[in-house]
Amino acid sequence: TNWVYGFGFDATEGHDIDRDRLGGKGASLAEMARMGLPVPPGITIIADVCRYFYDNDKRFPEGLKEAVEAGLRQVEAATGRHFGERKKPLLLSVRSGSRVSMPGMMDTVLNLGLNDETVRALAEDTGDERFAYDSYRRFIQMYADVVLGLDAELFEELLEERLSELGHHQDTRLSAAELKDIVTHYKDFLEEELGESFPQDPYEQLWGAISAVFSSWTSARATTFRALHAIPFEWGTAVNIQAMVFGNLGNDSATGVAFTRNPSTGEKALYGEFLVNAQGEDVVAGIRTPQSVTEAGRIASGSDRPSLEKLMPEAFDALVKVSARLERHYGDVQDMEFTIERGRLFMLQTRAGKRSAGAAMKIAMDMADEGLISRSEAIIRVDPATLDQMLHPTISPDYKGTQIGSGLPASPGAVTGEIVFSAEEAISAHAEGRKVILVRTETSPEDIHGMTAAVGVLTTRGGMTSHAAVVARGMGVPCVTGAGNMRVDRFANILHGIGGAMMHPGDRITIDGSTGRILKGAAPTQKPALSEDFQRLMGWADDVRRMRVRTNADTPGDARAARDFGAEGIGLCRTEHMFFDGGRIHTMRRMILAETEEGRREALDQLLPMQRADFEELFAIMHGLPVTIRLLDPPLHEFLPKTAGEVEDVAQGLGMDTDALRHRLDALYEFNPMLGHRGCRLAISYPEIAEMQARAIFEAAVAAARMTGEPVVPEILVPLVSLRAELDYVKARIEAVARAVMDESGMELDYLVGSMIELPRAALRAHEIAETAAFFSLGTNDLTQTTFGLSRDDAPGFLGNYQKKGIIERDPFISLDFDGVGELLKLAAERGRTTKPDLPIGICGEHGGDPVSINFCEGLGLDYVSCSPFRVPTARLAAAQATI
Ligand code: PEP
Ligand code: MG
Repeated sequence: TNWVYGFGFDATEGHDIDRDRLGGKGASLAEMARMGLPVPPGITIIADVCRYFYDNDKRFPEGLKEAVEAGLRQVEAATGRHFGERKKPLLLSVRSGSRVSMPGMMDTVLNLGLNDETVRALAEDTGDERFAYDSYRRFIQMYADVVLGLDAELFEELLEERLSELGHHQDTRLSAAELKDIVTHYKDFLEEELGESFPQDPYEQLWGAISAVFSSWTSARATTFRALHAIPFEWGTAVNIQAMVFGNLGNDSATGVAFTRNPSTGEKALYGEFLVNAQGEDVVAGIRTPQSVTEAGRIASGSDRPSLEKLMPEAFDALVKVSARLERHYGDVQDMEFTIERGRLFMLQTRAGKRSAGAAMKIAMDMADEGLISRSEAIIRVDPATLDQMLHPTISPDYKGTQIGSGLPASPGAVTGEIVFSAEEAISAHAEGRKVILVRTETSPEDIHGMTAAVGVLTTRGGMTSHAAVVARGMGVPCVTGAGNMRVDRFANILHGIGGAMMHPGDRITIDGSTGRILKGAAPTQKPALSEDFQRLMGWADDVRRMRVRTNADTPGDARAARDFGAEGIGLCRTEHMFFDGGRIHTMRRMILAETEEGRREALDQLLPMQRADFEELFAIMHGLPVTIRLLDPPLHEFLPKTAGEVEDVAQGLGMDTDALRHRLDALYEFNPMLGHRGCRLAISYPEIAEMQARAIFEAAVAAARMTGEPVVPEILVPLVSLRAELDYVKARIEAVARAVMDESGMELDYLVGSMIELPRAALRAHEIAETAAFFSLGTNDLTQTTFGLSRDDAPGFLGNYQKKGIIERDPFISLDFDGVGELLKLAAERGRTTKPDLPIGICGEHGGDPVSINFCEGLGLDYVSCSPFRVPTARLAAAQATI
């Protein structure tokens, strides 16, 4: 086996093999060398050796030693230097380099090959004794830290001590003699601490460093990083051994990092930082504050320290040229490490640059315009999940403030407001023109009007699909849920936060629903504008996607926002949310509490015109686009009062005896409402409710059609179906109402009656249900609940443990469980379409706005996805990516 590949001398071999084995750094060095860019020669030990190392008790494979030494001979030939020799000594850097970048997670040794003799040769060779001893000092410190396990900070302390004894502020002030003295000091200290002297044999140093780099693959920080980013242990790291070039050879030498474009704004201009007379580690470690590479950058940062452009114009020009070539070559923004040795530029690494969401968008569009990448590539380059961040303000990035808690980023956007603890307080505060954040342990449907009155919502319990989260996302109201490190004390009216923070009603806090942060007081925010790039990218996405994108909208406000974001219809209108507004809850309660059908019908007659007006408005806003309206879904007792005080109030309001009300509440009580009397089961028990809703829908359709002169085709959705007979029953009721409205109005109407597929039995019997249903809407929230037997409201409390323990990778309520729930969806789609090959199928669970799940839906051949308004752009882009 070939364990070692060379680069930067005659035969640059690396590009022939898999870059996964060469590692990111090794591959980029080989590639740059092959392009003829100035890369110091070196060799890469491939990642396979790392695996061997761990499989064989930290030993190296046979033949590795010979291969490394043969490679070194080539490096010597290419540089005209010799490893460990007293004349023109070759010094090496030994650096890790895994398949994906793990910034700062693994170890590096620089200046390797120095000892008491080669240091003198280096001094002679460079004519700079100070430099030689400074390099030796750095080497001892780094080697002791990385290879011998003696903390670098101990050496830093020694250095600090010496500096203050000598009255210098900076290590650059040390003279050669002083540095020599420090080196002796370092070596003595090391011997005292470890009971052995600093290794003088360069080969011992080399193998020590190689072992240390492989060993750092399992260091605590690398292990944590791997776990966080799901990087398998088996990948291992490669090791790059490269001839040193020196950025610390005086004032015409430097080292730095540069991006081919600005990684935070995306602006097309070289962006970078450097240090004069320094080695690479100094920039990263932040010992000194670096200077700007470009003159424009210097001016922008208001610095008076000269730019590289001014200081070393020739090296700067070379960097500009290399940068342009690399970007063109890789077709993406590059993040480059460079060193300038006595005016000459050397490249030490290049990789795709990490960038902000806004920069990613600008860069993708610019590069497509420049012809550097195709439109498809531009579509792929932008992470759909970051789009809704761009629609909301966020806390200014440099603002720290006092954090008093944290939770799940449930609905993006940052907002400041006074805290209130109940929906009623939110409403009255709102009426006074105050901005409030509704803080609850958890929210119930009844809080909805409070949520509309609030500028933000914070709950201490609940997950990303909790009611509060779904509703807030739908409304575009910033929301943080499940802030477990905060507690609402309703008796004392105090919100307890971390660090002993205590907030009272009226106190101001800022929540950031994009990050889950909660800060004390007001924080400055930034409001993003929908850029021209944003609109153009959306247009390109629309050109290639196959699936339609609809929205889940319950109110005219939702519907309007969603249209602005490009929704192509309503995929789900949850009508229950319409019963909480203003006086409606009162009538609704009267209906629920009625003992007779007659009593119910009376109340329903009052609700009818309100529902009709709602639907008319939705049809008007969405005119020309499909609108799916779902019949009432939640159990009726959700609309009823809970606490003793509320019960009193409601009894009084309805002119009812309190005991009689309690009695009725007991009768409606359910042990497991989620599996109880809800969905189509309500329509079967109380068909008059479904009939009222159907009538409201059809009458609104007639009115809207008269107004616009265009027909409206309502789609009526029946929830929680598991038996075809359930759907047959409800559909017959709807049809009868339709007939009646058509006769009364003298207008013929087209309409569709469809079925939610949100219970496992419905998925399994989809071929039967499709005989009755005109369309399917996949309710993956309930389907996830019922497939796992896991309550979506209780799951956040323990699913976190599952994720920590690696039992599940993703929260199945956020990102579809492909294997289980996904299998049922597949069955449902296939079986439904054996009955009706053209059966329209959409998804309206929260997964309809999740990019990974959207990709899965493309595979199922769904007709549309439906998601909350602010996720519509995300879904448009994700649907486009799914086809590429
Ligand atoms: C679902 O169950 O996926 C769904 C869309 O309905 P809801 O979330 O209202 O139960
Ligand atoms: Mg449901």
